[in-house]
Amino acid sequence: MTRPDFPVPYIAAWSGEHKPMPRVVQVGDGIMLAGQPRDKTGVSWQPWALRQGAGRPEYGKVHGPRQRRAMRRNLCQVCGGPADRNELGWLWLLEDHRADGEPGWPQGEVTTHPPVCRPCAPVAARLCPHLRDHVIAARVGLVILDGVYGQLYTPGPIPAGRNVALFNSPCARWLVGSQLAASLLDVTLIDLPKVTTHAPEARATAGS
Ligand SMILES: [Zn+2]
Repeated sequence: MTRPDFPVPYIAAWSGEHKPMPRVVQVGDGIMLAGQPRDKTGVSWQPWALRQGAGRPEYGKVHGPRQRRAMRRNLCQVCGGPADRNELGWLWLLEDHRADGEPGWPQGEVTTHPPVCRPCAPVAARLCPHLRDHVIAARVGLVILDGVYGQLYTPGPIPAGRNVALFNSPCARWLVGSQLAASLLDVTLIDLPKVTTHAPEARATAGS
C-alpha cells in the first residue's frame, strides 16, 4: 500500500514488474543468461517488466531499467523529472564519508543512486535508509557512467555477492547486471538546507 507521506520513488520496483530469472550459464569468458544475449558492453542484464504502478510498491527494491534511465538522462530518483543543475553541476545526495579520512573524498565517489531535483532532495534523504542521519548534498560537475552493479559469479557458476564492475572489464562478464554505477567527479559539497531555500513545499515536508 502507498502512503501519502511516503511517495513511491521513480526508481522503486513494483510487485507486478518481476520477471522470472533465466538460468545463469557459464560460457568461455564468464556467464550469461540462458536465451538472452549480452549487450554490446558484455553485460547480461536482469530482466524486468515495465509496468510502473502494477501491484504493490517495493520501496527497498530498485527497478533496473528505470534506475538506468535516470542515470543516463539525469532524472530525479524520486519523481523521475529532470534533476536539478546549476553552474556547479547536478544535485546529488551522498552518504557522508567525511569522517572516514579517505583521501580526496568525495572526488571519484562511485554511486548507483541517481541525482535529485530540489523539491525531492529532503524526501530522498528521508526515504533512503543509507542516507538517514548521515546525508550530505553535493553538486557534481562530471558524471561518468562507467560501471555496472549486480550479482557477481565465480566459475561454476557460483553466486559470489553483489558488486560493481567497470564496463568492458573481465569482471563485467561474470555478473548479472541490475543497475548503472557512476563515478562522480568535480564534486562540491553543499549545505543540504540550502537546497530547499526556494522550495517552500519541500521545506514543509522536511520539517514534518
Ligand atoms: Zn524530484
